[in-house]
Amino acid sequence: MIYFDHAATTPIDPRVLKKMQPYLEEKFGNPSSIYALGREARSAIDQARQTIADILQCTPKEILFTGSGTESDNWAIFGLAEAQKKNGNHIITTKIEHHAVLNPCQELERRGFKVTYLDVDASGLINLEDLKKAITKDTILASIIYANNEIGTVQDIPAISKILHEQKILFHTDACQTPGLLPIDIPTLQVDAMTINSSKIYGPKAVGVLYLKEGTKIAPLLYGGGQEFRMRAGTENVAGIVGMAEALKIITQEQSHHLPHILNLRDLLIKNLLKLSGTRLNGDPVRRLANNVNISFESADGESLLLRLDMQQIAASSGSACTSGSLEPSHVLAALGLPPELIKNSLRLTLGHNNTVEEVETASRIITRIVEDLRMAK
Ligand SMILES: *Cc1c(COP(=O)(O)O)cnc(C)c1O
Repeated sequence: MIYFDHAATTPIDPRVLKKMQPYLEEKFGNPSSIYALGREARSAIDQARQTIADILQCTPKEILFTGSGTESDNWAIFGLAEAQKKNGNHIITTKIEHHAVLNPCQELERRGFKVTYLDVDASGLINLEDLKKAITKDTILASIIYANNEIGTVQDIPAISKILHEQKILFHTDACQTPGLLPIDIPTLQVDAMTINSSKIYGPKAVGVLYLKEGTKIAPLLYGGGQEFRMRAGTENVAGIVGMAEALKIITQEQSHHLPHILNLRDLLIKNLLKLSGTRLNGDPVRRLANNVNISFESADGESLLLRLDMQQIAASSGSACTSGSLEPSHVLAALGLPPELIKNSLRLTLGHNNTVEEVETASRIITRIVEDLRMAK
């Protein structure tokens, strides 16, 4: 099988699994228990929190463990809006957020908040002047995705932080797609809150982190026991937390080694596929994630293309994984101004460091043949 869907999820790194194993077996204690077995689990969580804090260059208190990227995004939006609502009721986001941000924003509108969804240009970038103009005296929070999961466009997060902080507006970024590919340290990004998850970085699924700058008020997510600084009750996912920290450590340490390889694969894949007539690369050619290829093919139905690729053992995606299968046209490609036919005929291929040049060449040949076939059958 050729796996080109790393933006949906990644395989677990065997070293991560090995590090998790004892916490699923003999080290099964509840971190809140006072005897040795419990203390051992507590200490594993403390260490994981420290590891992640070191990588983000923040303090361990600023790292909150959650059950997914979706949960961190939801917590940031609902929790910060709730805690800030005495200061205003306006939130700024973009039209190209992941649904884990978009849908909470829509829910906040139903609860009486006002939300501005910023447009993007043809390559998926927001306009910083638009951002400045969107700010009102009631703006309390902005949430802007760091690198888009469908088209890979990378926003200028430090510049956005600067604009928002001049107006004392809290800034959350969804950075799920970025570890191992872009800087994720807080001194560089200057955000108040940031979401990352484990399933996109060769870690276990269903673990997330919400970075929250010290002193930032947020409403608790879950009420119950005193876990996660009394903000997210419930016995911790010890093995998952240990696994996420290990995964983030490995991907960060090996970034300089893997990045040139992934970039090379991406550029080769783009070059090969653009040789076909009637194709266009979606997203920005330069401000683009190193692992993202998103291409529209004129007169070649996207769903048929995906099914044929599956028959050839190639795993890819159209739009985002959450929308494919439901046949909903991608809101991200629509925001770029793409006509419906090209939105429907788009293919997302996202690479990982285990992919090879040979796989890229093979997949390029197969995709080219299928697209030509589909066009002939029209
Ligand atoms: C995958 C992803 C999410 C959701 O993360 P889960 O852990 O699957 O809930 C949110 N935002 C972005 C940008 C993602 O890529």
